[in-house]
Amino acid sequence: MELAPPGSAAAAWAARMGHDVVLADAAVFPRDKSCGDGLTPRAIAELDRLGLKEWTNDHVVNKGLRAHGFGQVLELEWPDGNLPKTGSAVPRTELDDRIRAEALESGAQGAEGARAVEVLWDGDKVEGIVFDHEGERKSVRCQQLIVADGVRSQLGRLLGREWHRDTVYGVAARSYLLSECSEDPWISSHLELRGLEGELLSGYGWIFPLGGGQVNVGVGTLATLKRPANVQLRPLMQFYADQRKDDFKLSGDLQAPKSAMLPMGGAVSGVAGPNWALIGDSAGCVNPLNGEGIDYGMETGRMVAELIHEGGSLDHAWPQLLTDHYGEAFSIARRLAGLVTIPRLLPAVGPIGMRSNWMMMLALRWMGNLITDEDRDAAAQVWRWAGKASVKVDARPPFS
Ligand SMILES: Cc1cc2nc3c(=O)[nH]c(=O)nc-3n(C[C@H](O)[C@H](O)[C@H](O)COP(=O)(O)OP(=O)(O)OC[C@H]3O[C@@H](n4cnc5c(N)ncnc54)[C@H](O)[C@@H]3O)c2cc1C
Repeated sequence: MELAPPGSAAAAWAARMGHDVVLADAAVFPRDKSCGDGLTPRAIAELDRLGLKEWTNDHVVNKGLRAHGFGQVLELEWPDGNLPKTGSAVPRTELDDRIRAEALESGAQGAEGARAVEVLWDGDKVEGIVFDHEGERKSVRCQQLIVADGVRSQLGRLLGREWHRDTVYGVAARSYLLSECSEDPWISSHLELRGLEGELLSGYGWIFPLGGGQVNVGVGTLATLKRPANVQLRPLMQFYADQRKDDFKLSGDLQAPKSAMLPMGGAVSGVAGPNWALIGDSAGCVNPLNGEGIDYGMETGRMVAELIHEGGSLDHAWPQLLTDHYGEAFSIARRLAGLVTIPRLLPAVGPIGMRSNWMMMLALRWMGNLITDEDRDAAAQVWRWAGKASVKVDARPPFS
């Protein structure tokens, strides 16, 4: 049983492997989710794997990141390597619905408007879940449970999940605007994000073209318990959009503004039990350096389905697999992201980085989760070395 893209991806893979799958969600689809809607090459690769290549190709395609800030504009193409050379952006109402449909077409049974409210235990194993469906309680028995219920993860909490907010996390908001640049082949990020008083914030603003005369506009900042963000996201998003109005030919009011927190870098403990596992945001699988989580979500969905198919207990195997795949990169990424929250650091290093195309290309690969296990070049090796060193000095490594 699984709960959306991570849950749907897991459901699709598990159903294709021959398992009986219930794909339950509290929402009725198509449903919205606060998101930049950006699909990095890694997310494109995962959609391709699911068999959605043609569907993805029917949407806008971008060739890289246009980074703005500190007096510079750099156009950074998605790097060569083992991942596709293209990205995209698709509104989540559409993306999540399509991946869910793929799961149902693969044989999963869908349950909408079904909120998981209680866990039925058999010793330390989950025997079933009680759902609230239009005020009625219904229980569903399960042999294995995959939980993908997002940042707050109510079900995860019932299972003992803990999100550690002393490690860096994100707060972000998005909205939609009309734009004459909706077919721009670049996604744009403004790395010099200024608040209403002109102060430099530890985050970035984005404009992601969606085609059809629309762009996704948003702002996000980093925070820790010690250094909370202390920003009002909606006024900041309006301020940011007003500043970009002429450059991106924006018009109209901010549509469907929505904000949310982002758990990052595996800063979650209790991600598995003998027959249950958390994936996506519920397991803190969001990149601390850019806030992307769709790709990790779909990857974790596929990986957990494979692990379940192999058989055996998940309680050690799942955190170990997450650690093997993401532990080192998350450790160094969240350490760097934590540094960005220190006042005066960004104003000092931002302008230096933005002066060098080479450094920003490196940053794009490191920050964008664009290094694969197969990459052997110097940038990949440095990133892995830094990750290993970082884990060694972590007071609480990712997923522990
Ligand atoms: C403002 C913002 C911008 C972002 N931009 C990007 C971006 O451009 N690119 C990117 O890759 N990532 C982005 N992210 C991160 C991305 O949105 C998440 O990482 C991703 O949605 C995680 O998917 P998920 O399925 O784990 O959680 P969600 O997408 O939140 O899905 C959770 C699902 O669980 C259901 N649910 C919750 N509780 C229950 C319950 N008790 N019972 C049943 N169902 C339940 C919900 O209805 C929902 O459908 C952004 C996040 C934010 C906040």
